[in-house]
Amino acid sequence: MPAFDDADFGVDVPNNNAQTNPEQGDMNKKASLSAGNHGHMGTSPGGLPIPGEHTGDGPIEVPASRSSVSEAAKYMHNLSVSPSQKDRRGSRNSFGASLPIPRSKRQSRLSSVHYPSENGRPSRPGMPPIQNSRALLASQVQDVQVAKVKKAKNMAFAFDIDGVLVHGDRLIPEGQRALDILNGDNELGIKIPHIFLTNGSGKPEKARCDQLTKILQNPVSTDQFIQSHTPMSALADYYETVLVVGGEGYKCREVAEVYGFKDIVVPNDIVAWDPTIAPYRVFTDEERATSKPRDFTKVEIGAILVFSDSRDYATDMQIIMDLLQSENGRFGTKAKDPVSQRIPIYFSQGDLLCPTEHWTPRMSQGAFRIGLEAMYRALTGVDLERVVYGKPELATYKYADEVITSWMDQIHGEEKLPENIYMIGDNPASDIIGGNMYGWNTCLVRTGVFQGGDNDENNPANFGVFPNVLEAVQTALRKQLGDDFKMHFDETINPVLHGEKADAAAVV
Ligand SMILES: [Mg+2]
Repeated sequence: MPAFDDADFGVDVPNNNAQTNPEQGDMNKKASLSAGNHGHMGTSPGGLPIPGEHTGDGPIEVPASRSSVSEAAKYMHNLSVSPSQKDRRGSRNSFGASLPIPRSKRQSRLSSVHYPSENGRPSRPGMPPIQNSRALLASQVQDVQVAKVKKAKNMAFAFDIDGVLVHGDRLIPEGQRALDILNGDNELGIKIPHIFLTNGSGKPEKARCDQLTKILQNPVSTDQFIQSHTPMSALADYYETVLVVGGEGYKCREVAEVYGFKDIVVPNDIVAWDPTIAPYRVFTDEERATSKPRDFTKVEIGAILVFSDSRDYATDMQIIMDLLQSENGRFGTKAKDPVSQRIPIYFSQGDLLCPTEHWTPRMSQGAFRIGLEAMYRALTGVDLERVVYGKPELATYKYADEVITSWMDQIHGEEKLPENIYMIGDNPASDIIGGNMYGWNTCLVRTGVFQGGDNDENNPANFGVFPNVLEAVQTALRKQLGDDFKMHFDETINPVLHGEKADAAAVV
């Protein structure tokens, strides 16, 4: 397996609505997305409190863009179209199909002038940052190129990672060059805001960013990085005890700890408490020693969070089904009403398949979820409502806006969302469809999943198809900053003599 243990470039099966009835599906999604742009939705119909609703400090609620059964219907012809509205109102996990996302950290106006210290140079609170000679030169160039600088600050990039910048832990060389340009190797010496938006999962953000920094030879900060479960950190405010499923070993427990979840249970804790719960599981001594069993008949688990791919479908599905059918998340009970007493289940992304070293793609979280939905329907007679994060879900794009705005504040001291955002991805079914629906410019590259002709037939990239990420970035920069925009910073330049205002400013 590549270093990215859960590849971020899932081959999602296109939205079922879009497949069976492309126009209708598309319209539904657009309607849902535009509804999301009107901001706060208030208290969820299921009655879950929304922390910080009135203070503006807590999570932001975003309408989910897919109903629980729309996709699964294709695979399960006997599913009813949807639960009745009455059932929905009575269900604790009927959020009115909305998802909470965190507010991105914001610095105060005053603190925004404390630029992060670079190269070990200290910053001086309340004083202009100490600049090295290149930064000084760049700021002089920028002073005389005001119009171009303004345009450079009014654009941003969102990169998918796998298949665009890297393959697993192997660099795609054009990726490094593209980031060099955006990190200042351009005629203005200016940083052009960019974030990383991946459906990858299974590791804390810091570990993944450190790994990417090494591979890409460019700084990747956690403040510009979103993986599939990053927005799920907002759920820490909602639930006291959660079951976290998926990932290698106990890595996802670590991720949940970083997110601030107070009481985290993983399937191994439950198997260690009662091995008969998973009759086919071979539980090793090491697993027993590293798990945290307790009497789970006395614990109310508030929600199930699938963070990453299950490493043991049989055990994880059994435990999830037991919990979904229990009374309020307590093992050893069976709910009389499977709808009103059911605890919520969240998935960090919806990709059905993901490419690996194997010759044909392997099943991913979407396949795991569809299995659960079918089992739940067969066992209880009702549809399982669930919520999904990750691309192309609306919540993930709304969160990306938060992160871009905050990143703009960090690098330019201007807390605003640029108007021209370019999504660069290799997967039409997640990167491109999501970007298109969210009003971004979308660029499809040929270095990953997409191997088609002129453009993808179902989800064409609206800005075009490019052989690689460097071509896409350069084309976007030229479109916004002019055809003659130079992708190199000239250290020998004299901004006074060569800038736009050379005639007026030239002094000998
Ligand atoms: Mg990808």
